[in-house]
Amino acid sequence: MTEAEKTEKKRKKAENDAKIYAKNKAERDENETEEEKAERLRQRREYEHKRIAEIIANETEEEKKERRRKKNESAAKKVKCEICDIEIRRDSMSDHIKSKKHLKNLEKNLMANVD
Ligand SMILES: [Zn+2]
Repeated sequence: MTEAEKTEKKRKKAENDAKIYAKNKAERDENETEEEKAERLRQRREYEHKRIAEIIANETEEEKKERRRKKNESAAKKVKCEICDIEIRRDSMSDHIKSKKHLKNLEKNLMANVD
């Protein structure tokens, strides 16, 4: 088998796998009850937590520092609140959307869109 043939075979397999995955997912979504869905999401979260815990446990001091730096950087990044038309820190967003100011603007916004 030539390299090109190998690549083509791999591509076809990936394409087929994606199709099977999409089909299975659609079937699962259709047949899944709310409880099953909640359980599936819970398991996935648990798995993600474990995976991250493992990564953190195996980190060197340097990697730890780098991860903290990135986390801080990301938290300090500005995001725009379209409702209030202001820029705020990403990590302030969850508090901001509960603030009186934001709720008032949201209400105003909703009123303005009602004809
Ligand atoms: Zn806002």
